[in-house]
Amino acid sequence: MKLFTHLKEEVLGFITLLFPPLCPLCRNHNLDSFQPGLCDSCLAELKPLSSPFCTICSLPFEGPPGSDHLCESCLKNPPPFSGVTAYGIYTGLLREAIHHYKYEEAFYLHRPLGRLLAETVAKRLSPEPFDFIVPVPLHLNKLRERTFNQSLLLARTLAKTLQLPIEAQGLERTRPTLSQQGLKSEERKRNLKGAFSLNTEVKNRRILLVDDVLTTGTTARECSRILRKGGAREVHVAVLARAAKYL
Ligand SMILES: [Zn+2]
Ligand SMILES: [Zn+2]
Repeated sequence: MKLFTHLKEEVLGFITLLFPPLCPLCRNHNLDSFQPGLCDSCLAELKPLSSPFCTICSLPFEGPPGSDHLCESCLKNPPPFSGVTAYGIYTGLLREAIHHYKYEEAFYLHRPLGRLLAETVAKRLSPEPFDFIVPVPLHLNKLRERTFNQSLLLARTLAKTLQLPIEAQGLERTRPTLSQQGLKSEERKRNLKGAFSLNTEVKNRRILLVDDVLTTGTTARECSRILRKGGAREVHVAVLARAAKYL
């Protein structure tokens, strides 16, 4: 049996070498069999978020670069996090890449996408290091359905690239919640109320909270609120993509 398993692995490895996987976005270019990701031309097409945007939640604005300011939501209702660093806007090729990553079994995309986010975090934030990284958790039911937590895999790539510790179970989703998509602002808040619990010591810590996409920010606000309530000195949010308000 063991010999058979071994042979099967050898054969599969050989097939991968003969037929390297295709880039999931363009289906044109072959990828490295051992380190699949995105092809160079698709990677070059991804556009990083550019100024102007909200100085706290990174909501993109129209206008000339450099005119960053607070958005209405951050002004009226300041969030419990100190800021959001986003690699790009949730649109076009980046949105497609995230879709493949989450729903089309291209889970290996956590490496190239996570590295892009890590570079953005390193460039944008002050040199004072975070104490650790915490991913936004999935409820067990969702984890069984998807088989992996997209935020955790991203967080692991960030931890490795930025050489930071990670508290993978720092937050836990203690009850299942509805998808936030299509819910109104108040419904989103109600949907997440009491959904997270704290599993680790955060007193006086500076924490980097990692998620894949930030839409209205309700999830990031609720996770940050729990961390701050536990005594965290600062929570900064890192996401691959920030949704523009009207998509
Ligand atoms: Zn490609
Ligand atoms: Zn804002």
